[in-house]
Amino acid sequence: MPRCDLLSTPLQFLKGVGPRKAADLKRASLVTVEDLLYRLPFRYEDRSHMQPIASLRPGTKAAVLGTIRSANVTVTRRRGFKIFHAIVSDGSGAIRCMWMNQAFLADILKPHLPVVIFGDVKLDSSGLHFMNPEYELVGSTEPGTGEFDGVHTARIVPFYEKTGTVTPNMQRRLVRQALDQLPPTVADVLPPELRQRLHLVPRRLAMEEAHFPPNESDVAELNAFRTQAQRRLIFEEFFLFQLGYAWRRHAASAELKPYVPKVDARIRESAARVLPFKLTPGQRHAVKEIVDDMLRPTPMNRLLQGDVGAGKTIVALLAAIVAMENGLQVAFMAPTEILAAQHYRNIARLLATSRFRVDLLTGSTPGLHKHTLLAHIERGTTHLVVGTHALVQEKVTFHKLGLVVIDEQHRFGVAQRAALREKGLHPDVLLMTATPIPRTLALTDYSELDVSKIADLPPGRRPVHTWVKPESRRDEIYQVIRDQLDTGRQAYVIYPLVEESEKIDLKSATEMADHLQTDIFPAYRVALLHGRMKQDAKDRVMHAFAGGQIHILVSTTVVEVGVDVPNASVMVVEHAERFGLSQLHQLRGRVGRGPWESHCILLYQAPWTDDARERLKTMADTHDGFVIAEKDLELRGPGDFFGTRQSGLPKLRTGDLVRDRDLMEAAHREARRLVDESGLTRELLEFVQTQWQEQFGLIEVG
Ligand code: ADP
Ligand code: MG
Repeated sequence: MPRCDLLSTPLQFLKGVGPRKAADLKRASLVTVEDLLYRLPFRYEDRSHMQPIASLRPGTKAAVLGTIRSANVTVTRRRGFKIFHAIVSDGSGAIRCMWMNQAFLADILKPHLPVVIFGDVKLDSSGLHFMNPEYELVGSTEPGTGEFDGVHTARIVPFYEKTGTVTPNMQRRLVRQALDQLPPTVADVLPPELRQRLHLVPRRLAMEEAHFPPNESDVAELNAFRTQAQRRLIFEEFFLFQLGYAWRRHAASAELKPYVPKVDARIRESAARVLPFKLTPGQRHAVKEIVDDMLRPTPMNRLLQGDVGAGKTIVALLAAIVAMENGLQVAFMAPTEILAAQHYRNIARLLATSRFRVDLLTGSTPGLHKHTLLAHIERGTTHLVVGTHALVQEKVTFHKLGLVVIDEQHRFGVAQRAALREKGLHPDVLLMTATPIPRTLALTDYSELDVSKIADLPPGRRPVHTWVKPESRRDEIYQVIRDQLDTGRQAYVIYPLVEESEKIDLKSATEMADHLQTDIFPAYRVALLHGRMKQDAKDRVMHAFAGGQIHILVSTTVVEVGVDVPNASVMVVEHAERFGLSQLHQLRGRVGRGPWESHCILLYQAPWTDDARERLKTMADTHDGFVIAEKDLELRGPGDFFGTRQSGLPKLRTGDLVRDRDLMEAAHREARRLVDESGLTRELLEFVQTQWQEQFGLIEVG
């Protein structure tokens, strides 16, 4: 990448950066001048307005430009504090300035020197004064002219995070020093055509003004990171980030599938025969995008997003039929055995009258049976195999694997695809998720995927009544459950299961199950489901609940993903304040799957945090998974949000994934465009191939 020499200079070469400070800076990934200049301030403060001393009012923040008239150090009697006093005057008057325990200032703020003082104006019995104000010597500038290029004062001042022993003020000084040494223009990494089209300001100017904005800048705009200079630098970083993904995607499109399916009238009929209902427009559109991908010579790498209950399974099944009709095998992976079994049952039912053989292969498939299954898969007599991730991890040999569907494990899916590729397999891959992915995430974590979205729901769905109630109103809640049970419905009671308190939560879940059975609902059957149970025990319980023999299922969050029991019409979430928004949304999706009115009751235990209140309120206000996901990201912040997904959060220096989403969108679009139009310069190509990974600190998964 073209670099200005000075930009790549290590920070040690700046004045005042000794080995200790250099090490501190390095720990914060500040190694070169460029790193320093691309670490934007987090806040700006307007200190540009000088006031005549005579006009100062107590209780305000003010800056004055004056001359030091006298200076001395006194020692307080009571505590032995040293106080440095200075009297500063301008044409209009004089004011006292005091600094506690900074006697060394006597060597800096000497009489007759012009100085800028900035801080809170205070009033005590002996008059107005500044206590511990910021100060800055003005050098040779004539006091009173107002013409002065300050660094810490007398201007709009940038604020930086503290970095080890490097104070924010020191960092400000370093930035100034670095900028002063840069030539008037520096090489630009962005192609000229792009800069022109997007009206991006020159790089050198952007660096200057993002740190030291001109005095006439709008501080509110600066603090919202909306100035041209800031946005130019943020765009640049986002663009370089997106280039890597665009490049990867481009490189993957050079891969060829061994078998390319075709679609004809016969296949369309075969698919139509399987359909038990009319597809929604969203489903139809998704099927079209997926099948179009399948007909291409390069492997599909698509993410199908759709809220819980949107009907993704049938979309995947139609894709599977296309593959199978072309003589290809399909692997259908689910994150848990429960879900795999459920998919298997549904798919087997839908394909019952077809000529395709469907099998279920999970970790708990008995050895002998497994042996037979593996043989079928290898010979190609099994056409579709449903299973857990064991499917690609274990020694399963496919005869002609054409399509892999990965449900509810998108992140994982990206790794699986890599695993497949390593085995020399290049099937079409369809990832499915009911966790709506905020735009921001779709643009970063999943940037190299193509995305289809089912935004509508099958007809007849009714929104789930959502209530937020304190734990103390439990009795009312039991009445709601009873009403539902009496009309033949079923209920979930969900307990949080967080690792730190796993034992306690398990105990309270167990006690609750007993209590509900014995004291509250003796006429109904209550059962407990939790993660520590053996697989077959779990399956038995789930099966009995799905079959209606169990009326109330007390469960830890194992029911979170994908479980489908339409007759369950009420869910109580205990300790709802402990759950994340997306998790609550997932849980709520377990009810409202049948034709009945249904209820989700979020029970919270006081005291709750503001965030918890906001989360539960959002749940009550909206059912739109995308709105909820955006809110979740906003509340948690990208770090946490990404972190819990174990994903590759890019290390960004300038931008904020949430705040600057519009720029990420532009960067995504422009990067794909540049790569697709083969517009990558040699430098940019070298950058994506060598430095990209390191610069953005991503973990390699795909
Ligand atoms: P998800 O997207 O959460 O995986 P599913 O595929 O499990 O959703 O579908 C949820 C339910 O909706 C299933 O019972 C399915 O049979 C039903 N369904 C899906 N699409 C339609 C449709 N177009 N019309 C009616 N019911 C549908
Ligand atoms: Mg599903």
